[in-house]
Amino acid sequence: MSNRSNALQRIQEKQFDAIVVGGGINGAISALALSAHGLSVALIERGDFASGTSQHSSNLVWGGFKYLSNYEFLYVSGLCKSRNRMAKAFPSRMVEKRFFAALDKSSPYPPWFAAMGANVYWALGRFATQRPFFRSLKSIKRLEPSIDATTVRGGIEYSDSMLLDNDSRFVSEFILEAEVKGAVVANYLELEAATRTQDQWTLDLVDNLTNEALTAKCGLLINAAGPNVVPMGSELDAQPKARTVFSKGVHFIVPQITDSGRIIAFYDDSQRLFYVFPMGHRSVVGTTDTSTEDYAEPVSDEDRRFVLEQINKRLALEPLTEEDIIAERCGVRTLVLEGDESVGDKDWTDLSRKHVLDVDPAKGVISILGGKLSDCLNIGEEIVDAVAELGLSPATSTEGWFGEPSESEAKAFMRRASRVGLDRKNTFDTAPTFAATLWRRHGLRANKILDLVEKDPSLGLSFSDLTDMCEAEVIVMRDHEKIETIEDFLRRRTQLAQLNRPADLASDEGMQKAAEILLGDRGRVELKEFGSGGQGRPAGHDDEPRNV
Ligand SMILES: Cc1cc2nc3c(=O)[nH]c(=O)nc-3n(C[C@H](O)[C@H](O)[C@H](O)COP(=O)(O)OP(=O)(O)OC[C@H]3O[C@@H](n4cnc5c(N)ncnc54)[C@H](O)[C@@H]3O)c2cc1C
Repeated sequence: MSNRSNALQRIQEKQFDAIVVGGGINGAISALALSAHGLSVALIERGDFASGTSQHSSNLVWGGFKYLSNYEFLYVSGLCKSRNRMAKAFPSRMVEKRFFAALDKSSPYPPWFAAMGANVYWALGRFATQRPFFRSLKSIKRLEPSIDATTVRGGIEYSDSMLLDNDSRFVSEFILEAEVKGAVVANYLELEAATRTQDQWTLDLVDNLTNEALTAKCGLLINAAGPNVVPMGSELDAQPKARTVFSKGVHFIVPQITDSGRIIAFYDDSQRLFYVFPMGHRSVVGTTDTSTEDYAEPVSDEDRRFVLEQINKRLALEPLTEEDIIAERCGVRTLVLEGDESVGDKDWTDLSRKHVLDVDPAKGVISILGGKLSDCLNIGEEIVDAVAELGLSPATSTEGWFGEPSESEAKAFMRRASRVGLDRKNTFDTAPTFAATLWRRHGLRANKILDLVEKDPSLGLSFSDLTDMCEAEVIVMRDHEKIETIEDFLRRRTQLAQLNRPADLASDEGMQKAAEILLGDRGRVELKEFGSGGQGRPAGHDDEPRNV
């Protein structure tokens, strides 16, 4: 029986303490926290894990510097605390990044004031990062020549953290970790309806890969459906008290703009902070923050025009055009309105980004509204407290319930990887060696890659000009990562579909081999279809860096 069939059977047979609906960051962290505290938990996700908003973020784990402009000191302090805990617990998956904010004459704050704010931010972050600096116009020109400094007055440099393998992989790793701790998890399994009788929920589910109907039973439901949380609440007759509105945000992946490793920040024409982030050997530009009613609204021509215009105005580079867009990310932030709060005349960007846990004891439903990747540990802990309030008895977690394996396990892996010759330099990844990349991506599962390479060293060789990956890695991903479609692999478990054009991926022989390893003949067919779905330049265009 395949892993998936096994999970579906167990979902039907077991009576769970709680079922989590939604496999974004909120659902993932809830499933991990509850299973690590000894409760019987299932997690279901109607698409792939992290296929909602959690694959479209800016990949930052940050303390929310910009919320200081709304005087949200307590909120920022809490986010910084969460960021610091995460940075300590995930030393390879997260990296401290320097932000380089260039302020011009139209920026809402002068550089000296921003520098004061950066110091307050550093203090709220308990001085856990490198110290911030005021940056003169001269040093901006020297350190980041890609910035058009014509109207810049000065700037600041400060730190926050970033996820190296993207938000979606970070989330799916939490889900796999929850499984290790006893949770039953399934992607492509959708909640269609639910009935509550005598303190029990019976869920009607549909397997979106086969259209088969299933049922499952649990005491509590955790509604972690992201933007779908309120509609789902009303279907369950457990409507959260707060309301939600959506803010659409798009990013574009373009040829590399700077190789400094820094994140460039500036104010856009609407006085919102706008960024250039590194992603592998590319750059990501964005984001927007516009009101929308439809959480699945795609990228519009207006979004493309706006983002490219902002970036071209502020960088001293050959202007980017739509043809330079290698890939797009587009998602909605779920913003929470409490009590009689309304959007009204407020500046849209001033709406709070805080999450709310709505607990309905009568119905046995906990809904998670809003939230951030950066705040996920707090959400995990609040969920454990909330289920205790509703009568479950979470055990005290004897070991930390989150985090990477220990330093000694990492060192043992590195020694072994060096013996089997996997400590070679990377071409695409920023980690110093391929072994370090494997450890970051797979943790203890990386040892299974070494097992395979020990038996057959050819499985350790890179198989494509587009990636440093080796076949043994793909085999271990097939066996453990619940990859059901080629897009799961290219877009969410790896960054391949963000860093390369679809047609380039589809025409690459190594990728065809990987697709076959993962999904058999179907893999090759899906890869071909994926290749015809791209936009912009044809395959083979080199997307040369724009660095100056
Ligand atoms: C442009 C942008 C940039 C951002 N940048 C950052 C950042 O840098 N740092 C940060 O911390 N936060 C950031 N955020 C916020 C963060 O990404 C979101 O708060 C977070 O991803 C939301 O996670 P979620 O689990 O609530 O929702 P989602 O990720 O949307 O997950 C909900 C899941 O529920 C599933 N679902 C819905 N209905 C059902 C059903 N009936 N059955 C089964 N499954 C169902 C959906 O398929 C979906 O996968 C950003 C957001 C945006 C839009």
